[in-house]
Amino acid sequence: MKKQWKIIPNLYNALVSHKEPVFLTQFVTQRCNAKCPHCFVDFKTADDELNLEQTEKIASTSGNCLRNIALTGGETFLRNDLFEIAKIWYKNSSAKSIVVTTNGSLPQKVEEFAKNSSRENIPVSFFISYDFIGEKHSEYRQLPHLHENIIESCKIIKSYGEKFNLTLQITITPDTYKTAIETYKYMRDELNVQNINCTMIRGEKANIITPDIRKELSETYKKIQEMLDNDFDCGKIQGFKGNSLTSILINAKNKMLWKYILKTFNENQYISPCCAGSLFGIIYYNGDIAPCEILNEKIGNLKDFDYNFLKAWKSLNADNIRKEIIKTKCFCTFECSWLVNLFSSPRFYPELLYCIMKNILREKNVQ
Ligand code: SF4
Ligand code: SF4
Repeated sequence: MKKQWKIIPNLYNALVSHKEPVFLTQFVTQRCNAKCPHCFVDFKTADDELNLEQTEKIASTSGNCLRNIALTGGETFLRNDLFEIAKIWYKNSSAKSIVVTTNGSLPQKVEEFAKNSSRENIPVSFFISYDFIGEKHSEYRQLPHLHENIIESCKIIKSYGEKFNLTLQITITPDTYKTAIETYKYMRDELNVQNINCTMIRGEKANIITPDIRKELSETYKKIQEMLDNDFDCGKIQGFKGNSLTSILINAKNKMLWKYILKTFNENQYISPCCAGSLFGIIYYNGDIAPCEILNEKIGNLKDFDYNFLKAWKSLNADNIRKEIIKTKCFCTFECSWLVNLFSSPRFYPELLYCIMKNILREKNVQ
């Protein structure tokens, strides 16, 4: 099918039918070398991890509308075949971009991955978590030399210039909020990264915060997001590189998404329907699939569908879960599902268009 004709079924899927995912997250492993206090990952061994053959079957049956696959963990680079996993998705699915999240502790593995991805022209966006300045970060995550390894990992990724996107990510939690603004400035001015992402604590630990701490987290999150907005507008933060549609949309969503997340966090109220289970989904290390990583609902395990992703996605159980999410007006602050909600709901389009126009003008001013 010609490229322009593919847009029509993709738009129909995103806006009307919601039958196929546009954004999937695969937990490639539940193993990790760090021990972060805020972690919600349920640590496991490599025994049940999906292998390459199974991953290929899943990728090639993930439909025609998939745009992005995020590979996460655990620590993703503990999988020695991480590059092969990324390549399988890129070559066998319709995904046009790959996100790799990492704690940044294994620079040699990052280097090998970057070299291979560059050779194969696979567009990768790296997301590295960063909570505290310097050695305090290594201590907090209980991983010796983590800070210096992150610096090294960043250096390697940056050495590929325009080829890859690099984002440092800070999560606002009861542990990090007091120093978060200082950490943000350090990432911007000393580590000099092109993009910074600030996310709010989520999962079970977010539900046991006292109202006072909740207020502090909310204020810190707002301050950092406002700084990010200003820094992006004046070119101190570059945002996603390039003039591709993905970069334009991601930079525009960065400007508006946080306001809805903050509103949801502050008011604890539903704003718009969630697309988890329809346009967005999770594949766990062992083949379990779920609408999201927050709701305690499992669609099934892919091995029961011979690793045919769409067969599982269109099963009766998946349908019931989707209906329940809509019926109960489920809401949360999970950024990945919010991202898809934003792009699939016409009510957000005027604001999205406004942010795109503002970013285009900004490009002209900072050049
Ligand atoms: S690096 Fe990530 S997966 Fe590992 S312990 Fe920390 S939060 Fe959990
Ligand atoms: S609102 Fe949050 S918890 Fe509910 S389905 Fe969507 S992502 Fe999951």
